[in-house]
Amino acid sequence: MSSILRFQVVGEAFTKKPVEVANPEQRPSDYFAKYVFTRQKMYHYLPADVYKRICDVIDNGAPLDMPTANAVAEGMKRWAMELGVTHCTHWFQPLTEGTAEKHDGFVEHDGKGGMMEVFTGKALVQQEPDASSFPSGGIRSTFEARGYSAWDPSSPVFVIGDTLMIPTIFISYTGEALDYKTPLKKSLRAIDKAATDVCRYFYPEVKSVISNLGWEQEYFLVDETIYAARPDLLMTGRTLMGHDSAKNQQMDDHYFGSIPGRVAAFMKDLEIQALELGIPCKTRHNEVAPNQFEFAPIYEETNLAVDHNMLMMSLMKKVARHHGFRCLLHEKPFAGINGSGKHNNWSLSTDTGVLLHAPGKTPMDNLRFVTFIVETLMAVYRHNGLLKASIISATNAHRLGAHEAPPAIISSFLGKQLTDLLKHLEENGGDEQIKLSDKQAFNLDIPQIPEIMVDNTDRNRTSPFAFTGNRFEFRAVGSQANCAASMIVLNTAVAETLTLFKERVDALIAQGSEPMKAILTVIREDIRTCRPIHFEGNGYSQEWQEEAKVRGLDTETSAPRMISRYLDEESIRMFERMKVLSQPELEARTEIKLSTYTKKIQIEARIFGDLCLNHIIPVATRYQSQLIDNVHKINGIFSAEETGQLNANNLKLIRQIGEHTTYIAQHVEQLIEARKVANVMESEMDKAIAYHDTVAPLIEDIRIHVDELELIVDDELWPLPKYREMLFIR
Ligand code: ADP
Ligand code: MG
Repeated sequence: MSSILRFQVVGEAFTKKPVEVANPEQRPSDYFAKYVFTRQKMYHYLPADVYKRICDVIDNGAPLDMPTANAVAEGMKRWAMELGVTHCTHWFQPLTEGTAEKHDGFVEHDGKGGMMEVFTGKALVQQEPDASSFPSGGIRSTFEARGYSAWDPSSPVFVIGDTLMIPTIFISYTGEALDYKTPLKKSLRAIDKAATDVCRYFYPEVKSVISNLGWEQEYFLVDETIYAARPDLLMTGRTLMGHDSAKNQQMDDHYFGSIPGRVAAFMKDLEIQALELGIPCKTRHNEVAPNQFEFAPIYEETNLAVDHNMLMMSLMKKVARHHGFRCLLHEKPFAGINGSGKHNNWSLSTDTGVLLHAPGKTPMDNLRFVTFIVETLMAVYRHNGLLKASIISATNAHRLGAHEAPPAIISSFLGKQLTDLLKHLEENGGDEQIKLSDKQAFNLDIPQIPEIMVDNTDRNRTSPFAFTGNRFEFRAVGSQANCAASMIVLNTAVAETLTLFKERVDALIAQGSEPMKAILTVIREDIRTCRPIHFEGNGYSQEWQEEAKVRGLDTETSAPRMISRYLDEESIRMFERMKVLSQPELEARTEIKLSTYTKKIQIEARIFGDLCLNHIIPVATRYQSQLIDNVHKINGIFSAEETGQLNANNLKLIRQIGEHTTYIAQHVEQLIEARKVANVMESEMDKAIAYHDTVAPLIEDIRIHVDELELIVDDELWPLPKYREMLFIR
């Protein structure tokens, strides 16, 4: 049986599945946040004074006392039990990938030989998960494995199945962060303070600044049965071998194309379940590569948006399986076609309105806008290497710098209007008032088609950090990453820059300068200083690589070396000054990042070696034997003059197969040796560098020979589903 028939049987059954609708009578607005303990539900299930106090905790960071926690827990329990909930768990984001949970039942002895349902404020507020199996980078030795999770009331609790899920932070016995959420929340506090202070130059009534995040999640779907027949996909999330499909994305016919029925059914189901969990789904479409898709919600406050992205990723995997798919969140599951990213759209807003939007109503609005744009650029400029460190991983390294993805250099695109404006300010001092124009009406001169409004910001898809009208879009983030990693760095860096900005402006004011003049003076200086980060050209081009070096930007391409930017003096100073992460925490995290990098490549190398030795070489050799057998038989039938020509092709193939299998066998041995050398290295840094420099390139090198064999060996014998079978859902 040919492999196509072998692997697509189950897929066919699912093709017939109709698009599911939760209940045709119900609209998204009816079931949105059905499983979330929203304010509306708090209002309903909590006594009035408790409701008021918990809102004060959420909105203003007021301390949470035990009586309030107990009363909130009681209300939550009542609501959850109406949904059939029997367990609760603290839900946290350790430094591994994904999320962690440990379920406890509501049951307690009632003292009379029976059981009763109990959920106390203490259980809501704090848990002590045995933390010894989570990475801590040496902060907490295993014999002292205490870790604490503590409720984060700013992200609402929700229900999945029979379990009440409580978003929490996760810290060590001595208070160091062992997760993403703790430093994220600290970075949000830092930017709130720094940005509010700067806003008050313009509008003294501003009370707070919020950081927003809208993530666009890209992913691939593959048929479940095909996935099961690819040990590499199963174990590493990507194909370690596989020749290009004759057709892949060269026709550009997938992007925004109509969504195949089976995929549409998956998306619908996913959206319903996401909306029920309060994730504000908005956009869905095909992406550039075959079988690649994207999903985006309406943006939210960053802490909540991060939780929702984590939840969404686990939901995507779960729902995909119901539809006979596997959802691939790896950044580069298939070589030679586009990988998957997660664009992080970032903006700031005040309690009174948006911050990164132009034009404002007054020149004052416009000056504030320019201040925040320039200081964001300054932050990205100062910490461009660190920002890159925040998004790099063993998996995202395959995507970064590949032809379709952001290059391994961080720069920022602003568009023509803003570029002209900054230039004008820099050259003329901006004594005149800052003028910005709004969208332009654009008349197409076609009857029945109304005027369309054209945005004044252009687009540049090659820029890793592009301004897109009211936000910056950080495009280098990997599809399976926790968004928090990059949001911690970005928010902390901007907070630091705004703090420094304020110090300089205040110094000028103290010398007698008028405040707006002082602001303009500092902005002009900064426009000049951060000029190297501003780049409007093609980020994919070779010239940019050269130019970026001349400009002094970080052009490092090796992942482990990029990761070490976390321990640069200016990075440590920034994190400590903004009270986001201490030096020991940074050292621990860097160690974890490096060891995760090493482990990923180590697993890939093992699976790859096994596949070569157990799948590829035996099958290629078997086919070679068949050819040799054929040669002998031809020799037995035909005369010596005729056999030369009749065997020519067979002999060529026999030789080629021999050359490839010999190469593969020898180099797999080298691969094993290289691993052995790296494994005994003491420092995580040296080990990761050895894996990067010696192990990873060998995999890529051997792969070329495996992929050549795939083209030669009989399709019926080939043991793995091919790209053309994995990439086209019918
Ligand atoms: P595109 O692919 O053109 O960038 P999408 O519609 O796919 O646009 O995604 C845009 C994302 O940006 C959405 O998640 C959206 O909510 C988010 N977004 C829009 N405005 C803002 C803003 N002011 N701050 C943060 N995110 C925003
Ligand atoms: Mg986008």
